[in-house]
Amino acid sequence: MNLSYALRPKTLSEFIGQEHLVGKDQLLFRLFQSQNLISLIFWGPPGSGKTTLANLIAKQFKADFYSLSAVASGKKDLQLIIAKARQNQIQGRQTLLFIDEIHRWNKAQQDTLLPYVESGLVILIGATTENPSFEIIGPLLSRSKLLIFNKLTDQNLKTIIKRAITNKSLGIAKYGKSLDKSAMDLLIRLSGGDARIALNALEIAIYSYRDKIITAEIIKNIFQTKSAGLYDKDADQHYHTISAFIKSMRGSDVDASLYYLARMLESGEDPKFIARRMIIFASEDIGLADRGALIQANAAFEAVTKIGLPEAKLILAHIVIYLALAKKSRSVANALSKAIKAVYDYPNEPVPLHLRNPSTLLNKNLGYGQNYAWSEQFVGPTKALSFLPDKLKKQRFYSSIKEG
Ligand code: ADP
Repeated sequence: MNLSYALRPKTLSEFIGQEHLVGKDQLLFRLFQSQNLISLIFWGPPGSGKTTLANLIAKQFKADFYSLSAVASGKKDLQLIIAKARQNQIQGRQTLLFIDEIHRWNKAQQDTLLPYVESGLVILIGATTENPSFEIIGPLLSRSKLLIFNKLTDQNLKTIIKRAITNKSLGIAKYGKSLDKSAMDLLIRLSGGDARIALNALEIAIYSYRDKIITAEIIKNIFQTKSAGLYDKDADQHYHTISAFIKSMRGSDVDASLYYLARMLESGEDPKFIARRMIIFASEDIGLADRGALIQANAAFEAVTKIGLPEAKLILAHIVIYLALAKKSRSVANALSKAIKAVYDYPNEPVPLHLRNPSTLLNKNLGYGQNYAWSEQFVGPTKALSFLPDKLKKQRFYSSIKEG
């Protein structure tokens, strides 16, 4: 069995950290003492205890607990749970629904939850790693209490790791393994506040290495070889695929672009993530070579947000074909990097006097706004002066593309 799963705290006393939530007299402490279960939104980084706490709440309230992952589940799964909730209601039992990564549901999907949450048929706990004010619909937010989870501290992780090593019931103790200090420090540092990562790495160190003392060298090896379950293999795959996708569009290979799009969608990639990348692509790789591209990509994003899966796939395919076939130009990206370079090459270059606003008499006397004409015939600096600061006046950032 997976170590981090097996070690999931069974009681609140085993839950480490997040004192601002579970500490004495804090919100969850009070919730546990009351008989009144309310809907909650958990916002915080991965491996900080959101799922764990939802489990503990269900246990405390003896609620019927259901857990959905918004990535893998949809309306049908919800309907099954609602049917159960109706039965529970008749029997006077509460139903707790935990939805992990709730931000991955679009507005319409989140809307379907509303009547059930409103009527109290289900108590919702939605977990998200993203800012809920952007990703969770207002009515759901206003009917829930928002709890913010912190990244686990080094000390928290240390406690969790130590408990794992000495845990008798899991039989780890019988291996008689220990971590030396530098291994502990490194494990904590590489885990980045994520208990799941720390425990997965520890599991490999215990079961895959013979050494009694786990050294920093072993920990380093485990993280370097990206052993299974440690790094999210899916996350790696995700970056390779998005990279291949962008490169295929850049190379105007419409078939490869569609293939990588399909691959991302079928592995559960967030359609809004893909759409956002295409908006960037429209500026970075097409620019003014096709003046509609940015507008189209932005419209596609809007449409994807409104429609949601599965139909959003069509919209994505539509815009992928458009962008892959469009004329390409890097002129926007190149111009921007040249302009940025000039800013650093000539730091603190004063804005030319003739372009400053002569808002006071003193400013006027200092020459602000002089030699600047603004008439129907001519707008701009006179006397061969430039819009650019003097030292930069010969610089050109944008080189126009041949359109046709
Ligand atoms: P999240 O839902 O925030 O991604 P989980 O609650 O699923 O994280 O945590 C993953 C694993 O890490 C749990 O099974 C548990 O073993 C361990 N863990 C996470 N947070 C804590 C915590 N605060 N106290 C003790 N163990 C924790």
